Amino acid sequence: MGAIAAALQACRARIEVACAASGRGPDCARLLAVSKTFPAEAVRQAHAAGQRLFGESYAQEALPKIESLADLPLEWHFIGPLQSNKTRVIAEHFHWLHSLDRESLARRLSRQRPAHLPPLNVCIQVNVSGEASKHGVPPSEALPLAQALAALPNLRLRGLMAIPEPTPDLARLRGRFREVAILLEQARRLGLSLDTLSMGMSADLEAAIMEGATMVRVGSAIFGARDYNTNQEQSS
Ligand SMILES: *Cc1c(COP(=O)(O)O)cnc(C)c1O
Repeated sequence: MGAIAAALQACRARIEVACAASGRGPDCARLLAVSKTFPAEAVRQAHAAGQRLFGESYAQEALPKIESLADLPLEWHFIGPLQSNKTRVIAEHFHWLHSLDRESLARRLSRQRPAHLPPLNVCIQVNVSGEASKHGVPPSEALPLAQALAALPNLRLRGLMAIPEPTPDLARLRGRFREVAILLEQARRLGLSLDTLSMGMSADLEAAIMEGATMVRVGSAIFGARDYNTNQEQSS
C-alpha cells in the first residue's frame, strides 16, 4: 500500500473511533482531504484509495489541478481565505465553499454561479477565537449573515466552519468547537435547514467530532508536511 493510502486508512480509523466515542454513528463525519500545495498526482493516489472530497485554499493553485483531474468524479471544496477577485474561479469550479464571511461576496458568488451547475454549497466561517488576524465573522454576526444568504438563489447554505486557535488545553479547544455547534443549533431554530459543521483538522479532529463536527478537513495527516515555498500565492 502506498503512503497516501495508508495515511488515509489511519485517518478514517481515527474518525471512526471519534464518532463512536461521540455517540454518533461510525460515519458521523465526512473526510475532506486537504490537498493544497500537493500535486495532482497525490490527489489521484488518494482517489485511487477511495477518497472523493478534496479541499484547496488558493484559487490559482487549485484551478490547474482541478482541470487536470477532470476525468475523476471528485468533489472540490474551497476552504481558504476568500478574496473578491477569486470568486469567479470558485463559483465556476468548486462544489463547496467553507470560508464565506461577507454578504457582498455571497451576492457576487450567487451571480457568478453558472446556470448549468447546481447551487454552490456554502458554510459561513465563524471566528471563534476572536483573533484579529483570522478570517470569519464574529459569532454575533453569524446568524444575521445566515439569514441573508438564505435568499440568494444560487447558493445553498449548508452550515458553519471554524478554525479555533491551536491550544494544548483540550477543554478550551472543545469549548471553542462547542460554541460553533451551539450557533448551528440556534440557526436551525430560526428555521434554516443546515446539516454541516466543518471543523477539525489533522491535530484536533477528535475534539471537533466530540463536539458534533460533520466534516473534518485533514491535510498533513494524509499528504505529509506542506512546503509553502512551492506556493506562489501564499503571500497574497
Ligand atoms: C490547511 C488547512 C487545513 C488542513 O490542515 P492540517 O493541519 O494539515 O490538517 C484545514 N482547514 C483549512 C481551512 C486549512 O487551510
